[in-house]
Amino acid sequence: MVHDVIIVGAGFAGLSAALALRDGGLDVLVLEARERTGGRVEAQVNSLGERYDSGGQFLCQDMPQVMALAKRFGKTLMTTPVDGAFTLQPEMSEEEGQALWDANVAIRDRMNAIDPADPAVRDLSVWDWLQRQPDDVHAKSAFCSTVEGLWCQPTDAVPIWYLIDNDRRITNEVSELQYFLGETMHALAEDLAAGFEGHIHLSTPVLEIRRSGDDVTLVTSQGPLQARHVIIAVPPVMANRIVFSPPLPATLARALDVWRSGTVIKMRLRYARAFWRDQDRNGMVLWRDIHGLFACDTSRDEDHPALVVFAGGPLALRLRQSSEDQLRAEVLDRLAAALGAEARDTLDFSVRDWSDDPWSGGGYSDIVANFSAHNAENALRAGTPPIHFACSELSPSFPGYVEGAIISGRITAEAVLKSFDLPVGVDPRE
Ligand SMILES: Cc1cc2nc3c(=O)[nH]c(=O)nc-3n(C[C@H](O)[C@H](O)[C@H](O)COP(=O)(O)OP(=O)(O)OC[C@H]3O[C@@H](n4cnc5c(N)ncnc54)[C@H](O)[C@@H]3O)c2cc1C
Repeated sequence: MVHDVIIVGAGFAGLSAALALRDGGLDVLVLEARERTGGRVEAQVNSLGERYDSGGQFLCQDMPQVMALAKRFGKTLMTTPVDGAFTLQPEMSEEEGQALWDANVAIRDRMNAIDPADPAVRDLSVWDWLQRQPDDVHAKSAFCSTVEGLWCQPTDAVPIWYLIDNDRRITNEVSELQYFLGETMHALAEDLAAGFEGHIHLSTPVLEIRRSGDDVTLVTSQGPLQARHVIIAVPPVMANRIVFSPPLPATLARALDVWRSGTVIKMRLRYARAFWRDQDRNGMVLWRDIHGLFACDTSRDEDHPALVVFAGGPLALRLRQSSEDQLRAEVLDRLAAALGAEARDTLDFSVRDWSDDPWSGGGYSDIVANFSAHNAENALRAGTPPIHFACSELSPSFPGYVEGAIISGRITAEAVLKSFDLPVGVDPRE
């Protein structure tokens, strides 16, 4: 049997593409390497038997696609608790904290005002550019921490033009941490997948993609499968591990070869009480003496007090060298210093290290780490039909987020529908 379209990867990009293609009237098969759907959106069960998001979790009103999906599948929007004071480490006065925040925002705004195509920044890393800025050492350090925490990379590995181009597409005006889903973000991925029973093959990594004649053959651990079109809905670093026969055109092969995965550890700590609220704190902690560490309150309700802690970039690399007990001890020491000794009294402390993940490569997303690879994203977006690429990284809006994954999946699906001469954006069930 030759399928109309085979999609490699059942993350939000692959599932959104599958939905659009099926709604457009095509026969779709999704092949997923893991034993579950969701990709970088994942839920785990902690020692208390509670399901929580160990991967992508937050969304906000400025992300229309994921908000609409949450509504469509009846998910519960939980507002991330933010009432109370932020905690800065090391401690500083409110005025000092505000001044540092403003200086950090000013650097980011100044950076984003640069044309990413400006030859003056062509060969500069974020670190190089920052050294040329007039800001004081504390403001620069805060900015480095922001980049390491959000892009999960050392600042000298990130071309400044890439960061500008990427950051300009992240356009939320309210906090990206505004909401999370009571049922978990992963439950939303499962809702999307539920409509494809029998059309998603789990534990089926795609190892090789062969093109001959009009069709494409995918070599999988379960044997070969054929399709007229293929959408590779995996992060670029993962796509680069698939063998292509014949090899991809040189431009495309190079475009796949320039990405680097981020390193991030997500931790979730459950408590008996939201003790930080006793001191009118909101549970959000920004560390300034260590880059890439961040905590916030994700209590679902009074009965489920919880903090999530993220360690991104070089910090994640350092922490993963130590044992999990050492990692927990370091994080608890820091939380106790910030929020009080009760931070040590966890009911559960779950750790998910995404760095070097076998099917994601890392998190939150891949970046272009080659200073001259300005065309990499465009080359991947164009693909080499009937082979197409989709993933959050390639989205024109919210790259690196669930929102971006949905958008990229849909855009790629539309291109495939057009090549079948089918109308786009029409739901035949309506
Ligand atoms: C710790 C963490 C926290 C995050 N927090 C947020 C957040 O709060 N909000 C937010 O919006 N975003 C967040 N993100 C980012 C968000 O999760 C991702 O941008 C998004 O889920 C990516 O979706 P995708 O479909 O592009 O890729 P993926 O989710 O990576 O999906 C790709 C799929 O392809 C599969 N695959 C890979 N190789 C193969 C192969 N050869 N054969 C078959 N299958 C293969 C993978 O197993 C995976 O299921 C977070 C990410 C991480 C890691």
